[in-house]
Amino acid sequence: MKIHDISVSISAAMPVYPGDPAVSIEPVLQIAKGDDANVSRLSFGNHTGTHLDPPAHFVPGGKSVDQLNLSTLFGPARVVDLTRVQTAITADDLERARIPKRAVRVLCKTRNSELWARAGFQKDFVAFAWDAAQWIVDRGIRLIGIDYLSAESFGASEPKTHRVLLNAGVIVIEGIDLRNVAPGNYTLACLPLKIKDGDGGPARAILIEE
Ligand SMILES: [Zn+2]
Repeated sequence: MKIHDISVSISAAMPVYPGDPAVSIEPVLQIAKGDDANVSRLSFGNHTGTHLDPPAHFVPGGKSVDQLNLSTLFGPARVVDLTRVQTAITADDLERARIPKRAVRVLCKTRNSELWARAGFQKDFVAFAWDAAQWIVDRGIRLIGIDYLSAESFGASEPKTHRVLLNAGVIVIEGIDLRNVAPGNYTLACLPLKIKDGDGGPARAILIEE
């Protein structure tokens, strides 16, 4: 069994989606300064790095991150190769991606994963066109992952992709790093922090390879 960590590290140097709070991690207690323990204060948005979007992110009254069904967040997952897509993933791209008929969890590996090597937020990431979002809903997929900070194209005039997915209760994992993961079948575990009424949840995400 091999465990692939597909989470990105949280640090002040990481890219943050424009408009979201900056990441700050400051020591509060330090052994080096005579304190008994090391303790830090964290400050960052709940859509930082690898995180889940629950329905409450875009749907008034939708489920928050603490209310998600954990059985969706753990189980068989398919990683699909969409590295040739240049701008937005369309329904046609997904149709050709060899996604098994009954797939519940699908993670999309795109050229985005290479963007993690670059400093600062990169606007030219690959996201889902709204027809791809509709395709995901129609196929009964319950969890979809993308390897940069949003499922929606940067500068989209309206958040149609998010609305289609989250209105249908599809859970979105954003900000995974699939650079070192080959397309194929895995077991996914992606558990967000249990933030009461949270509209987003930073998570540690792993893929287990049998
Ligand atoms: Zn998000």
